[in-house]
Amino acid sequence: MKKLCCIMLSVLSMLFLLSGCENGNNAEYSQTFFAMNTFAEITAYGNEAEDACSEIQDSVAEMEKLWSVTDENSEIFALNHGARTEVSPMTAEIVSFALEMSQKTGGALDPTVYPVLAAWGFTTGENRVPSEEEIAELLKLVGYEKAAVSGNRITLEDGMMLDLGAVAKGYATARAAEILSKHGVKSALVNFGGNVLAYGSKPDGSDWKIGVKDPVGDGIVGTLSLSDKTAVTSGKYKRFFTAPDGTVYGHIIDPKTGYPADNDLLSATIIAEDGALCDALSTALFVMGKNPAESYWRAVGGFDMILITKDGEIIITEGIEKNFRLTGNFSLSVIR
Ligand code: AMP
Ligand code: MG
Repeated sequence: MKKLCCIMLSVLSMLFLLSGCENGNNAEYSQTFFAMNTFAEITAYGNEAEDACSEIQDSVAEMEKLWSVTDENSEIFALNHGARTEVSPMTAEIVSFALEMSQKTGGALDPTVYPVLAAWGFTTGENRVPSEEEIAELLKLVGYEKAAVSGNRITLEDGMMLDLGAVAKGYATARAAEILSKHGVKSALVNFGGNVLAYGSKPDGSDWKIGVKDPVGDGIVGTLSLSDKTAVTSGKYKRFFTAPDGTVYGHIIDPKTGYPADNDLLSATIIAEDGALCDALSTALFVMGKNPAESYWRAVGGFDMILITKDGEIIITEGIEKNFRLTGNFSLSVIR
């Protein structure tokens, strides 16, 4: 009898929990998956939240299939090995966007850096330190101005190769926003390996709270309150290897030197509406370093940023002053 009561109670509480989730048109649905070498986590609210989540997962899978540098069946692989020049409209669009951002950032972002990146072993996981001569030789193959997109045709000079790793996740995040909108979702949080889309606001109308990771420790340095914005962070802490002499090399290459970017920054976070722009700029401004990043923000604008320096300084732009709350022991300055 006691056992029966327990079973009935747990069935009742399960029913209660389920009905609690399906609250009118605000049903909550969560989905996690692994793609593009990272975990994706989506929580969305709405009648079509589940459909939206699975469509987002499908769209990321499709992009990965087109743009993987290691999958022999991808369009980028074929392009990089001289097997084709004609690509799908989506590939032409992202390559064109990446080249345009390369030009705007003076080559700090450069999708043609792939031959150098591959020599450091970042795509295979077999990391090594190439010789200076090898880097100098490979740098001859790098240069966004030597690549062109015309319609769906991409032309590269002999030996040149593309890698969309610096922009693909942001592009996928921007596409996720379109899919959420199509399914009538008003509120969602998409975390795609450090690319965080705060879609709408929380169902109660308040901002989504996003932690900004401490690039050296395990915790966070502060929180960002955001609605209808994407925040993307780049930093070498996300992927690196330690050479036998103890030097730590990160996965973001300075296309001017062919060596992993090593300046006064530990991380760069970009906040804007367009996820693709955030992703492109987070990589580019991380390569530039603190002062050039500040100059870029003043000259171009259209985004906010959080720079964390090796000196333990956190620099934020005025647009997010009210949205950022420091939690760690850092010195904070606001640029205007
Ligand atoms: P992100 O995490 O968005 O900063 O992108 C870093 C990834 O972009 C790396 O893992 C490489 O695949 C690629 N990459 C590295 N350096 C550059 C660069 N300077 N420009 C474009 N792509 C890069
Ligand atoms: Mg990026």
